[in-house]
Amino acid sequence: MSTTALTEQAQAPGKVNLFFAAGPPRPDGYHDVASLYCAVSTVETVTATLTAGTGIAVGVAAVPGSLVAQQIGLGTFRLDAVPTDGSNLAVRAARAVLERFPELPGGLHLQIDKAVPVAGGMGGGSADAAAALTAVNRLAARACRAPGLDDGALLELAAGLGADVPFALTGGAAVGTGTGARLRPAAVGAPLHLVLVAAPAGLSTPAAYAELDRLRTDEDVPPPRLPEGLEEALAAGARRELAPLLRNDLQPAALSLAPRLEPVLAAGVAAGALASFVSGSGPTVAHLVADASAAEDLAGRLRGRGAPALAVRAP
Ligand code: ATP
Repeated sequence: MSTTALTEQAQAPGKVNLFFAAGPPRPDGYHDVASLYCAVSTVETVTATLTAGTGIAVGVAAVPGSLVAQQIGLGTFRLDAVPTDGSNLAVRAARAVLERFPELPGGLHLQIDKAVPVAGGMGGGSADAAAALTAVNRLAARACRAPGLDDGALLELAAGLGADVPFALTGGAAVGTGTGARLRPAAVGAPLHLVLVAAPAGLSTPAAYAELDRLRTDEDVPPPRLPEGLEEALAAGARRELAPLLRNDLQPAALSLAPRLEPVLAAGVAAGALASFVSGSGPTVAHLVADASAAEDLAGRLRGRGAPALAVRAP
């Protein structure tokens, strides 16, 4: 067994939910959802290195030019907001893999290069967990000269870490049901072009769900399901047919908690976006536009007005 400077790197994407319906709260506190996940070209990178020490150390940096780097430049975000202890999802993911390789000696260093806004509704922590699962699995397999965990085993570990982690591991586009962890791939006819706009402060996912339940107190909430034609429009690459079908049940909750998002959504409509929506539990906003040059154009204009904005492809 060799442990000299063994390093493995892996990436996992952030996501938007092109559609997100949540049912009523279940007795266990979770919500059943119907989610159309779509990965974006903003990715998290985790580099795992075996160390001579013990335990898991974490370093965090911002990817240059990313939304996170823009937020730091504007003074609205600091990297020390990312936990580096056992509550970091990448650390939890690494531990889950290491339990399967008890013979592995020494410690681990995890370098997390963040591009996805923290607490932004884009599954950044989940992407770190997915990238850590992949990187640490490869590293442990090399160090132990043993076969690594297979895709099925990694997906099982992912589901145990959080509802969005399995999707971050698979990427592409997928329909998520149950808590979101039960996945079925969705066909994509042509990549979508989005402009992502990050907010000056994050939103907590549990707070967004609590607000959703509060707003719907007197409503009879139906079981969540995808609308007719949604998957077909995505599979056909028919952006204009897709746009009116996009919906996010968490958007009214995010707007209730962060009314400053209203003008951010309105700016997309005013600029001729096909659709503008809050990503997941927010507060990141996504504007769907016709093509890559429209995305670059809108992102540049929004940056000119002082907003952290980035043109991305999805998936
Ligand atoms: P969701 O997957 O629910 O949409 P999100 O994208 O809104 O989540 P994350 O960036 O994943 O939010 O982080 C939410 C919280 O999780 C953070 O405020 C932070 O305290 C904690 N956290 C744990 N691990 C990480 C990580 N690797 N990166 C960022 N935040 C993390």
